[in-house]
Amino acid sequence: MKPEVKFSISEVKSFLACERQWSLSSRNRTPLRALETSTALKLGTIFHESLAYAYNRKEEANLEQILMTCAPHLQNDKDFAILSKMLTGYFQDVLPTDLEKWEILEIEYCFNHPLVTLSTKQLDVYITGAIDLIVYEAETNTIWGIEHKTAKAYRESTFAQMDAQPRLYAEMLTTLYLKDAISRNRVPSDAKVGGIIINEVKKLSTKFDYKRTVMQYDNDSRLHFNANLTAILERMLNTLEQDFCAPTTHHASCSYCSFKNVCLEFTYKPVTVDTILHHETLSEQFKVRTVDYIQEHLLSFNVLEDGGNNDNN
Ligand code: SF4
Repeated sequence: MKPEVKFSISEVKSFLACERQWSLSSRNRTPLRALETSTALKLGTIFHESLAYAYNRKEEANLEQILMTCAPHLQNDKDFAILSKMLTGYFQDVLPTDLEKWEILEIEYCFNHPLVTLSTKQLDVYITGAIDLIVYEAETNTIWGIEHKTAKAYRESTFAQMDAQPRLYAEMLTTLYLKDAISRNRVPSDAKVGGIIINEVKKLSTKFDYKRTVMQYDNDSRLHFNANLTAILERMLNTLEQDFCAPTTHHASCSYCSFKNVCLEFTYKPVTVDTILHHETLSEQFKVRTVDYIQEHLLSFNVLEDGGNNDNN
């Protein structure tokens, strides 16, 4: 069997933001993860999980039970107040309408699609990812992918339009999922793909606020996006052969980067995973990742199904 290289959109974004950050975290090299001091799950993850649970259980989902189960996994009372406001509003204003107009087809749909144009004699290359929710709208005979996003403010429109994640997911629905759903008789043979709906819910404790943005892409735009993505993936494949990568400083990416301490210590000097694992202090802050990102993402989605006993984070 040939070795596999798997690229996700998160990995592409990391590569474009800072090659050093990418080189230390890529699943296609030896990926490091920062050891977290807190065992609490992040509010966004808990909200995502609550929505997955609610769309799965439909009318049987019980808001009070979800909140009680999630409470011990949140960082503090403030986060609980925010989650409570978000979920109460969602259960009142959004979920009943969604369940009336949509049939739930998939929750956390994982894909791993071979990229034949990039695969070589030595390597099989795949694009991989997970779509939060896939639904069928009978009234329009249309399949939609839904991506849940939580933030204090809504996304800027240029970013929403340029974001590679919904574009790739729309591509996967069109080229991969539609055929599969038709062959399994989940949707009529003449069903079509609508696109991706970005389902944004504000992280606020004062009021419930949400927004839906429909992302649809014409054929010309799809063609150019695919060509652009292929060119980036080719660059990533070539860069995989380098021992280390240079840092690219940017206020936004550095602010949220797990490798800040690495850069504080080494600045522009060459640094590899090995250097970090043998460093006097940094070796205590990082370990080699043993569970793949997507698998870890799915594992973290067990708190509600386990009735609160999950301790994967
Ligand atoms: S801190 Fe900034 S420069 Fe350093 S790895 Fe992270 S993103 Fe790159």
